[in-house]
Amino acid sequence: MLPESIKQLLAEKQAKDSYRSRIVCRPHDSYVEVDGKHYVNFSGNDYLGLAVDTKLQQRWGEVQLNSGSTGSPLINGYHPSHQALEETICDWLGFESCLLFTSGFTANSSILKNLMTNKQHTIVQDKLNHASLLDGGKEANAKNIRFQHNNIAHLKKRLESVDNYKLIVTEGIFSMDGDHAPIDEVIAAKRQHDAGVMLDDAHGVGVFGKQGEGSLSLSNAKAADIDIFTATFGKAVGTSGAFVCGSQQLIEYLVNHARGYIYSTSFSPVLAEMTRIAIEKLRLEQWRRDKLRDNITYFKNILAELSFEMTGSDSAIQPIVVGDNKSTLLLASEMRKQGFWVTAIRPPTVPAHAGRIRITLTSLHSHQQIKAMLFALKESCERLKICQN
Ligand code: PMP
Repeated sequence: MLPESIKQLLAEKQAKDSYRSRIVCRPHDSYVEVDGKHYVNFSGNDYLGLAVDTKLQQRWGEVQLNSGSTGSPLINGYHPSHQALEETICDWLGFESCLLFTSGFTANSSILKNLMTNKQHTIVQDKLNHASLLDGGKEANAKNIRFQHNNIAHLKKRLESVDNYKLIVTEGIFSMDGDHAPIDEVIAAKRQHDAGVMLDDAHGVGVFGKQGEGSLSLSNAKAADIDIFTATFGKAVGTSGAFVCGSQQLIEYLVNHARGYIYSTSFSPVLAEMTRIAIEKLRLEQWRRDKLRDNITYFKNILAELSFEMTGSDSAIQPIVVGDNKSTLLLASEMRKQGFWVTAIRPPTVPAHAGRIRITLTSLHSHQQIKAMLFALKESCERLKICQN
C-alpha cells in the first residue's frame, strides 16, 4: 500500500499547474517525432548534434564489446573501455585523475554527501545550482548555505561568516538561465578565503573552447584551480553517464567513499567506448561549435529585432521568462501547435513566478528554423497577451 498522502500531493500539483507527464519522443536531426508528427526541436541538450549523428550510430553496431559491465566498479564492472574513457577525459581537460558515474545527478549528490561529512565544514552554493548539487548539499553532514546567484559580494560575505573548511559550489553554465558563473572572481574568492571550489560544467563542456574544453576556457582559470570538476555526457557529448575530475587524492577518496559510485553497476562498456569516440569527434570537429555559435548570435539578433527582452545568455540555453505556470503551459502548447517543440519549465525547477520556455539551440538548427520559431513565439505572445515583452 502506498501512503494516502500521495493522492493529495498529486492533486496539489494539478491545482497549481505544476503536474508533469512524460511524453514519448524520438529526436532525429533538428526534429523530434511525437505521436507520428514532426516538430522542430528546441528542447533537447544535444548541442552539437552528436546524439543523432548517423555516422556515430553506425559505430555502435561495430563496437565489439560486452553489452553489460556485469558489476559495480569495485567488483568487476571497471573495464578497459571505462579506463580508456577516463584517460581520454584527463588528456582532454588537463586534470590529474577522473572517475565515471552513471549520471551527473548521482555524481554531484554523492560527491557532496560523501565528501562533506564534517559538521564543522560548510558548503557554499549558488542559489540557482542544479537540484543534484542542492540535494547533495542538504544530505551532507556539513552545513549547507547558499549565496545569491552569481553575486560575488554575497559569496564573499558568506565565506567570511564561516570558519574552518568551506567548499564553494557553482556551475559553468546555469541550466535554466544559460548564463555563466564569473569563474575568475570565484577563484579569487576561493584564494582569498582558503576555500575549495566545485564546478559543474554540464552545459559548458563540448560547447566552449578550441576542443570543447568547456567554461574554464572562457576564463583565466586552469584545471588545477578547480578542486572538483563534474560534467555529464548527456548534453554536448550526446550519450549518457558522467564524470568527476580532480586530483589523484580526490579520486582515490571517492573510490573509497562515494556510495553512488561504489554500489552501482558501471554503465555498459559499449557506452563507454561510444562516449570516448564521441569526445574524440567533438574535440576535432570545431565546425559544430562554430555552427552553434553562429546560431546563438543569429537567435539573439532576431530576438532584438522583434524587441524581445534579451536573455543575458550567450550559451545554447536561451530562456524566455513568462511568469505564471498557466501562461507558460499555454505558450508551450501554442508553439507545439505551430510545429515547434519547446518545453514549459515551471517551479520547483525554477523560482516561483519564473516559469519559462527554455529554448535550446544546437548546431543542427538552420537560421530559417530559428527565425520561424521566434516569429511564432512573438505572434503567440501578442495574441495570447502573456509575455513580459
Ligand atoms: N548538472 C546540471 C547543471 C544539469 O543540468 C544536469 C542535467 N539536468 C545534471 C547535472 C545531471 O546530469 P545527468 O542528466 O547526467 O544526471
